[in-house]
Amino acid sequence: MPTIVLPAAVREILDRLTAAGFAAYVVGGCVRDSLMGRLPGDWDICTAAPPETTLALFAATHRPLPTGLKHGTVTLFQAGTPYEVTTFRTEGAYSDGRRPDSVRFVSEVTEDLARRDFTVNAMAYHPDSGLVDPFDGQGDLSRRLLRCVGHAETRFLEDALRLLRALRFAASLGFALESETAKALRALAGSITRVSPERIFSELTKLLCADGAAAVLARHPTLLFALIPELERQVGLDQRNPHHCHRLWEHTLAVLAATPARPALRLAALLHDVAKPFCFTVDRHGVGHFYGHPEEGAERTEEILRRLRCPNQLREQVTRLVLWHDERTPAELPAVRRLVRDVGWATLPDLLALQRADTLGQSPQMLEQKLARVDGVEALLDQVRRERLCCTVAELAIDGGELLALGCPGGPAVGRLLSVLLDEVIEGRLDNSRAALSAAATELLRRELPG
Ligand code: ATP
Ligand code: MG
Repeated sequence: MPTIVLPAAVREILDRLTAAGFAAYVVGGCVRDSLMGRLPGDWDICTAAPPETTLALFAATHRPLPTGLKHGTVTLFQAGTPYEVTTFRTEGAYSDGRRPDSVRFVSEVTEDLARRDFTVNAMAYHPDSGLVDPFDGQGDLSRRLLRCVGHAETRFLEDALRLLRALRFAASLGFALESETAKALRALAGSITRVSPERIFSELTKLLCADGAAAVLARHPTLLFALIPELERQVGLDQRNPHHCHRLWEHTLAVLAATPARPALRLAALLHDVAKPFCFTVDRHGVGHFYGHPEEGAERTEEILRRLRCPNQLREQVTRLVLWHDERTPAELPAVRRLVRDVGWATLPDLLALQRADTLGQSPQMLEQKLARVDGVEALLDQVRRERLCCTVAELAIDGGELLALGCPGGPAVGRLLSVLLDEVIEGRLDNSRAALSAAATELLRRELPG
């Protein structure tokens, strides 16, 4: 029998429930992760105690919150850490494919485990009685298989979000889908659109940020294509270009695999070439081109992420990355300063990471030169940061008010003059000092504003 070491705070919650006469276990992800030798992210508890009883039992000590009373969930707090305690329950039918029509509290832990999604997520544990594992979750852990509890099609039809969860867990655990589960997933992929976009987006992000995301999507792409049909056009597309050794979909997956696991980056990796199939041309030498794909890609990315209800800030960041992903800024100081001006510091680290990954997903020839360019840009960015070199109008040692005082007409002329001065500074022709800038501004005003 495996032993799981519980944090003292968790043991205390179990003990208090048990002392009051109610069965209680840790359950789900924390049991799975512990058995795999991984550190659980959080500890969930299930119990025979009704939610009102849990509220009363912990009222004096754990600031219990009735976070989901209808579904039997109470959240307890110990030293700022939340612990969800959920009453054993079964679920009624999911007639809308989104949430159970009803839940019913039950007295047996095995009934509660039967409603859970995958066998490896359907184990409970108590330090005195050991593991409760009615669906051989342990066996599937050792076989490294993700398998639905019960009949796969029925379970996916009850709650279509489980389709995406199946890929997410396969990717994060490094498991294969058991064959019936995989078959049902292929057959029912289209029903994912019945799930609310907010639930989908959150699972999709977790899937993309999992270690094995690219490998799992290579084997099981159907579900992703149901969510983002634009990507399906990448499959089989021969890029016919010496820079590329992969077909387009394989290239996208290679870039995904090569990016650090941050949501903005992984989404940008997935979508960076989304417009390529729509921009594909072949010249008279038989060479493929994708003119305008970053701009059209940014537009499509914006549209896709709106459709998926991606939070605004994240959407803007991903869209900016797609727009700039193909920008081959030379490793020269003025060009790098212009890149800071145009892209902004907040996006640059992700942009460089995306460009490295994009390069790694291309032909081996020229690889070193391409990576050296990115390294060179990065080194120059360090210099810009260290020496606080001016890259934006806001960093100029002169502002609009001062230009007006020098006789600049108001309105758009102020912005134009500031940007001409910034260009001179970036090119290294002018010092970013108030004296130099006002002398240059005076001279320019005397010659009248260009443009
Ligand atoms: P993580 O480590 O990512 O939190 P987890 O297994 O704890 O993984 P959660 O989404 O937190 O996953 O869900 C907790 C548990 O609740 C799962 O292990 C599973 O038993 C059950 N569960 C969650 N969502 C569903 C669902 N849609 N259908 C069935 N069971 C679910
Ligand atoms: Mg969890």
